[in-house]
Amino acid sequence: MPFTIPDYAQPLIPDAKTDWKLFDSIVYALSGTTNGEDLKTSLMYLDWWRWLNIEVFGERLQPLFISREVAAFGHWIGLCSYHPRHIKLAGPAFKAVHHDNAIANRLDYFKDLSGSEHNAAMVILHEMIHQSLFEAKKDTTHEGQPWMLLCKYIGGILDLPYDYCPLKKAKEDVLDENGNPTYIESPTQTLKGGKPKMIKVRRNIWVPNDGIKRDESKPLAPYHAYCCFPYVESSAFIQANTVTKTTGKKVEKNDGKPVTIPPSF
Ligand SMILES: [Zn+2]
Repeated sequence: MPFTIPDYAQPLIPDAKTDWKLFDSIVYALSGTTNGEDLKTSLMYLDWWRWLNIEVFGERLQPLFISREVAAFGHWIGLCSYHPRHIKLAGPAFKAVHHDNAIANRLDYFKDLSGSEHNAAMVILHEMIHQSLFEAKKDTTHEGQPWMLLCKYIGGILDLPYDYCPLKKAKEDVLDENGNPTYIESPTQTLKGGKPKMIKVRRNIWVPNDGIKRDESKPLAPYHAYCCFPYVESSAFIQANTVTKTTGKKVEKNDGKPVTIPPSF
């Protein structure tokens, strides 16, 4: 039985019907151009896509190729390209178990898979969220509300331990040990008489978006739980592959403060 798509997720899944003839053509093309292990795994990936498309996305996504590719380790693990549409998996997607570990209760169809196979299935699911947003002509990035709302819908299906309430960027004061705001000398502004102006130290944070109800029974999902969905903070793989940058454009944009970048999906 397909899952019920909640009202808030309806506009984030294309208002379309899957072209199953195209799906059959892709399977046919694959069988004529691939063989051995590659054919076996490619057909398996397509079969998982087929099941997820029916059960999670209401048979509303359009078929595409799914293949294993070579990517610089840590550069990306899964990728959904749109022109042409194509889901690509790099080594860690089908060799690691970071997503598998995040999910306590697997979906029925994936019950008998090995940990790394289940991991690959969850990378495909992640890329299908990008695909859905692209085909529905919505913001496909992890920072957009559409992405976060689909995490909320699918996080519920996977029984993940977080409330994926959509977040927005905000700033908060950095407090000292007594709970008072901290100040630093402004690098650019001076007071009359030449003394440097003191400014409050602020940092970027993510907070629940206005007007969206928090599910208080679960902790709010941390920011990376959206980018690396489905993910939990204790995932050693994600932690080991998250880099902290202290220089570069992203850091400049973040008021010069360090930026953490998880592996890319
Ligand atoms: Zn992604």
